[in-house]
Amino acid sequence: MQRKLLDILACPIDKNYPLELMEFNLRDETIVDGVLLCAKCKRFYPIIDEIPVMLPDGLRNRKEDLEFLNRWRSRLPKSVVEEGKPWNLRDDFLTQGKLKTTSSDS
Ligand SMILES: [Zn+2]
Repeated sequence: MQRKLLDILACPIDKNYPLELMEFNLRDETIVDGVLLCAKCKRFYPIIDEIPVMLPDGLRNRKEDLEFLNRWRSRLPKSVVEEGKPWNLRDDFLTQGKLKTTSSDS
């Protein structure tokens, strides 16, 4: 995406504006990989192959979002990796723990 797009992007959940941009990979002046952060609701919106993925929670792909967090976890603020919404790697860890407990109970 182009940086100037930031001037028109708002969080789809709470309309917060402007969003915080983090750039991981650039091609010329285009952001290829990055993330948009909403400081208000703590949601993150991945930028993948130049496309900002800004969907409401119900349309998001949890697995792809978690893979994205895992891929960039060393570049992302800890607050996003562990407390980002609608999901984060700490939630994922807890979920897996619960699943394990359930399967050993049965
Ligand atoms: Zn928001």
